[in-house]
Parts: sequence; structure tokens; C-alpha cells
Amino acid sequence: MEDYTLKKLRENVYQFETFGRGCHLYLILGDRMNVLIDTGNYEKFNSFVYLVFSEIGIKFEEINIVINTHEHWDHLSGNHFFKCPVCAHSAAASKIELQDEYVIRAKECDFDVTDLKTDIWLEDGMIFDLGNEHLKIIHTPGHTSGCICIYDPYKYYMFGGDTVFANGYVSNIYESGSLADYINSLYKLKTLRIKTIYPGHGPLIDNPDEEIDASLLGAKLKLDEYIKHVQMKNPEGRPTPSVYERPDY
Ligand SMILES: [Zn+2]
Repeated sequence: MEDYTLKKLRENVYQFETFGRGCHLYLILGDRMNVLIDTGNYEKFNSFVYLVFSEIGIKFEEINIVINTHEHWDHLSGNHFFKCPVCAHSAAASKIELQDEYVIRAKECDFDVTDLKTDIWLEDGMIFDLGNEHLKIIHTPGHTSGCICIYDPYKYYMFGGDTVFANGYVSNIYESGSLADYINSLYKLKTLRIKTIYPGHGPLIDNPDEEIDASLLGAKLKLDEYIKHVQMKNPEGRPTPSVYERPDY
């Protein structure tokens, strides 16, 4: 199987779709700068460089900004190939800068976090003005603490990272994440007008309202289960720290 399948999603927006280890990468060609969303699995980097040059006609050195959607290895392990600034939300950037391989889950792929860095720490509401496209940072903690979605408020498409997936799938909650934060983030997304979501994994989403509602419902059920789990372990009421052990989502 090839590492990536290149798809043109719309004028100036490309997806490098992948299966298995790694995530989809997205390249946005801007009038002012070219932006890459996530760098994926470092083992697939050569395939990415080849496709960028042979199919799109630019060198990877012409990518001006990299944005990581969160602090998991499968979204950022290609970062060290880039000389351009690398950006992540501050809650993700702290784990990346301090090379927190527990949260980054680097051991899953024997990924060496030694040289990991971020150049620009992002906050909710910041906008990259590419001239022809606008990329607004929406902080959506839950799956991890530093998750972001990246939203074009004029064209109504959004890069969902690992926050929203097709088929009402509820994102896993990992070490720096929180199910309650995840639910709150989905409520936040419901305030936006979104026509299409380009997720970090799996198929594209062309019915965002329904999918966000389905994920929200699933996440609330999981939270109920989790609370019952905690209460059953300590029927006396006041939970002790030891019962906060997470069920395996
Ligand atoms: Zn993730």
C-alpha cells in the first residue's frame, strides 16, 4: 500500500490521505504563504516530499508554516524535517518543547523526541491570513489538552485533527485529555457554521452538524458510564484519587 494518496479537496487545498500508522496531512497553498497541517508519520516523509514536488509542483522547502493539530506522535513526528516555523497550541507546545514522550505516545513507534520543538505557541482565536484563505485556531481540548481545529470562517471548512471523525465516532481520551473538556469542545464547534470537516483520520465529513451531534451524544453516554464506574467503586460517595483510574475507552 502506498504511504499517501493525494487528493485535491478544493482550489488550493490538498489532502495526503493515509491509512495505518500516521495521519492525513493537509497542504493549503496561500497567496502569502503555504501551510502544512500536521507532519504525520516520519517514516512516510519521503513519499510526501515526492508527491508535493511531482503532483503539486512545489518543493517542500516552499512550505512556510507547519501547524500541528495536537501533541501526538502520529501528527508531528515529521516536524524535524522542516526548517520553517512549527506551530502548536500552547497546551500542546509545552509537551512538545519539554519532550513529554508519555503524552506524545512516542514509544508506540520508537520515535525519538529529542529534537522536537515548536517555534510559535498558538492560542484560541488566532488567524493565519493567507490572502486567499483564512485559518482560525479553535482550541478544542479533550482528546488531548492541546487539540485544535482549524477553521476558515469565510469558506466554512474546517480541519478537525483528532476532535471530530465521521460516523459519530467519539474520540479516544488520552493522557493529557479530558472527556468533560471534549464535550465542551463539541458544544463550542456547534456554534460555528461548518460545511465540511477534513479530519486527521478516516473519511471526510460533509454533514458536520449531524456528526458533531452524534459524537456529543456518544461522549455524554461515556461520561455517564465513567461516573457510574467511579461511584460503584466507592459507594460511600466521596471518591478517593485511586478510583480515578480511567476505564479503557
Ligand atoms: Zn491523537
